[in-house]
Amino acid sequence: MKLKVEGLTFSYENRNVLDSIGFSVKEGEFVSLLGPSGSGKSTILKLLTGVLPADQGRILVDDKPIRGLSQHFAYMPQNDLLFPWKTILDNVCLYGQIHGSLEAMRQEAKGNFPEFGLAGYEDSYPSQLSGGMRQRAAFLRTALCKADILLLDEPFGALDVITRGEMQDWLLGIHRKMNRTVVLVTHDMDEAIYLSDRILILNQSPARITDEIVVKERKRDRQWLYEQGELRGNIYERIMAGAGEERDNGRTVDTNRCPRAYGDEGRTG
Ligand code: ADP
Ligand code: MG
Repeated sequence: MKLKVEGLTFSYENRNVLDSIGFSVKEGEFVSLLGPSGSGKSTILKLLTGVLPADQGRILVDDKPIRGLSQHFAYMPQNDLLFPWKTILDNVCLYGQIHGSLEAMRQEAKGNFPEFGLAGYEDSYPSQLSGGMRQRAAFLRTALCKADILLLDEPFGALDVITRGEMQDWLLGIHRKMNRTVVLVTHDMDEAIYLSDRILILNQSPARITDEIVVKERKRDRQWLYEQGELRGNIYERIMAGAGEERDNGRTVDTNRCPRAYGDEGRTG
């Protein structure tokens, strides 16, 4: 297993935010953590990167427990900002020196500019780029880290709906080519359905993973996404059931039961 998280528990001061979070991610898999705002998604990513220490639990990469800051994760925080006074190339190579020579990194980065839709903008400044381009530049900076697991925290949350859609299409394409392991955090159900191999549903206060949904469809496009009414309804029910049980008696859905798989039946409509 590429990534395994066991019994991760965390409190901010006296407030328990995460309660025994456990999940695994296979090599090359794209997994989304889907939950409402404030449910603890960003906190999970901060524990993975070692920015925050867990109260309890273990994180294993390639079956080996890791502690503290590790080189296994490339992390794109929520609202990742580019430095306005640096060129796009300099912004993208910001972490270059950590992982080797800056010149080698600049060459590698330049080679990736066309793929990231940034060709010709190497010497431009962030203010000269559209929102989507800035986001792709931030993503390129993350992707250039020689880490095997990408952690993306609501990467498209700040974009308008059209640009967000374009960015999702682009990410879907680039993930197929890069074949990196990705953990994406989002509160957007459609984004999770469109991009993920597997969706883990979080409920909150304190956060637990209450459900797991496998999305098997390989050939995804917008039309396919529009047709996923049943899946969308199912996810919504599960989120509401988690919230309801939370209110009623504090119990959660049994996460050990077999996840439901979608995409086997082929297209409907
Ligand atoms: P999400 O990313 O799902 O929106 P977060 O992980 O950012 O949620 O936050 C989970 C909960 O923890 C929220 O209720 C938030 O208010 C609280 N929280 C986040 N950061 C801190 C902090 N540094 N100190 C205290 N509480 C925090
Ligand atoms: Mg967050």
